[in-house]
Amino acid sequence: YYSSEVRKVTIIPGDGIGPEISAAVQKIFSAANVPIEWESVDVTPVRGPDGRFGIPQAAIDSVNKNKVGLKGPLMTPVGKGHRSLNLALRKEFNLYANVRPCRSLEGYETLYDNVDVVTIRENTEGEYSGIEHEIVDGVVQSIKLITEEASRRVAEFAFTYTKTNGRQKVTAVHKANIMRMSDGLFLHCCREAAEKFPDVKFEEKYLDTVCLNMVQDPTQYDVLVMPNLYGDILSDMCAGLVGGLGLTPSGNIGLNGALFESVHGTAPDIAGQDKANPTALLLSGVMMLRYMKLSDHADRIEKACFDTIKDAKYRTGDLGGSAKCSEFTDEICRKVQSG
Ligand code: NAD
Repeated sequence: YYSSEVRKVTIIPGDGIGPEISAAVQKIFSAANVPIEWESVDVTPVRGPDGRFGIPQAAIDSVNKNKVGLKGPLMTPVGKGHRSLNLALRKEFNLYANVRPCRSLEGYETLYDNVDVVTIRENTEGEYSGIEHEIVDGVVQSIKLITEEASRRVAEFAFTYTKTNGRQKVTAVHKANIMRMSDGLFLHCCREAAEKFPDVKFEEKYLDTVCLNMVQDPTQYDVLVMPNLYGDILSDMCAGLVGGLGLTPSGNIGLNGALFESVHGTAPDIAGQDKANPTALLLSGVMMLRYMKLSDHADRIEKACFDTIKDAKYRTGDLGGSAKCSEFTDEICRKVQSG
């Protein structure tokens, strides 16, 4: 790679274990000579002119300019008068699709050793539109908003993702038997997208059926696309099948950029002790590299990470080992450089 091809990427180290695992990812990326330059930004809320707390402008500018970012976990302050930063970032950058690959890790035993599914969740509307009100005393109403535009956008993204990642099938997950109009519209948009991608298989399944099948035989699914709430729940269930949130990466795909993040939180119980497992953030970084079409680097880093976990010599505490975050990281660096 020539230096002119080096691209800038925003990194939000985050809170708690965030700075430790972000440093680990940066170290592994430099060992692999990934042609990116990090721009580190702080998203600690600042009080704006209107008196409300929000993301600092510098952070917004950085993501808007670089279009690609990697984000560690952020603490959600309770009752401090500003909304969840994660939600604010999602809204600010119009991150409409949340992508979570869940794949069994070789050598780390879970219920099934052959899980390989990707959940794609509509990230902007549905049950999480935040439109709720009390009609009369004791009666509240919450509105599930489904639009053709957002449904089509996420459906087409699911098919494009399936095709470009060498996958075979998209399953639309819904409850259109009950929510005839809202899920019906979502499903209609999935069918239309399917017609544009004749070489990708398409099927429609009820959410309850998918849950039942997923825990009995996860191999029957490949890529799943669904409205917001279903995706929130189903993606955590799939993460549980492969060993929990500490290992699962995710990507938030936006209209003009993308933000990749680990699924877990700030782990305050082990923060600052060099005990955290950086795998989820590292694999989020690997997804980011594939998004940036740096697949060779992605493959090398991913293999070094999987091999290190498989060897079991340097596993962190959450995987039953006694290695420090830094020891696990150094071993991945060694493997990246020798592989
Ligand atoms: P958590 O994920 O931080 O921790 C749950 C348990 O998992 C803890 O025992 C922790 O030690 C362990 N764990 C998590 N990540 C790990 C890792 N990489 N390596 C080893 N162990 C790990 O969940 P929580 O305690 O419910 O939340 C703590 C804070 O994080 C809260 O403020 C919450 O709002 C926030 N949070 C942020 C995000 C995000 O930024 N996307 C997501 C979830 C929670």
